[in-house]
Amino acid sequence: MLKGKTAVITGSTSGIGLGIARALAAQGADIVLNGFGDVEGPKAEIAALGVKVAYHGADMSRPAEIEAMMKFAASEFGQVDILVNNAGIQYVARIENFPVDKWDAVIAINLSSAFHATRLALPAMQAADGGRGWGRIINIASAHGLVGSPEKSAYVAAKHGIVGLTKVTALENATSGVTCNAICPGWVLTPLVQKQIDARAAGQGIGNDAAAQQLLQEKEPSLQFTTPEELGALAVFFCSPAGNNVRGVAWNMDGGWVAQ
Ligand code: NAD
Repeated sequence: MLKGKTAVITGSTSGIGLGIARALAAQGADIVLNGFGDVEGPKAEIAALGVKVAYHGADMSRPAEIEAMMKFAASEFGQVDILVNNAGIQYVARIENFPVDKWDAVIAINLSSAFHATRLALPAMQAADGGRGWGRIINIASAHGLVGSPEKSAYVAAKHGIVGLTKVTALENATSGVTCNAICPGWVLTPLVQKQIDARAAGQGIGNDAAAQQLLQEKEPSLQFTTPEELGALAVFFCSPAGNNVRGVAWNMDGGWVAQ
């Protein structure tokens, strides 16, 4: 379905981003990976799906590096058709104790990076398909884009912000073939959440499984983690013809978290 399309997925060396990269590649999209840590493993895994894959190591807190990544993607594959703004970090502390540099980093990586990548991707998407436009921008927000939790001020502010950015991007392009939507996962068992499970286990002197169960019980009526595969399938839907008129939604996949 996505053969001939190119997708840039930020923060795709791990977790949700890698799951979405796999799902888009399985539909035939060529992939530009980004993120830190092991690169060769994810690159080989995507290449094995029979698509072209490239990697750019832009630090998403740095606008000049984001610009270099978007130029690299266009020069490697001709154009960027699908942009998934996924890179993100977490930091947990009460507001009065929240380190200012951590606030700045969370806002830069989880929110401002999406603005920069989007502003750089839009002109070519708007010009695609003989000027009618074709493009898909998918912002990975969170249940924390819709509701708050204590000790996550920067994350909740960034995620509410990206839901707002999603709506404006969708509205500004509403008469074209460029859509923008957000995905709001609940708990997904990735390194980002494992750190929170580890902190809880250490703080309470309990085991990993008990700490993970506690996390789920507090927020998710389903008592299940959402998986990167499920999130990848939703991203594929947004890219499909059936997603043509889905514009500006913040679609939660959260085991009932925000239904309460
Ligand atoms: P993860 O830690 O597994 O992956 C994060 C990715 O972002 C990695 O590839 C990492 O290298 C990359 N990254 C981090 N800082 C970066 C930077 N400065 N520049 C470039 N890349 C950078 O985390 P994840 O859980 O897969 O999170 C992905 C997204 O999903 C985040 O935006 C997160 O807020 C969101 N999310 C996660 C959950 C969850 O439960 N795991 C829930 C809701 C939303």
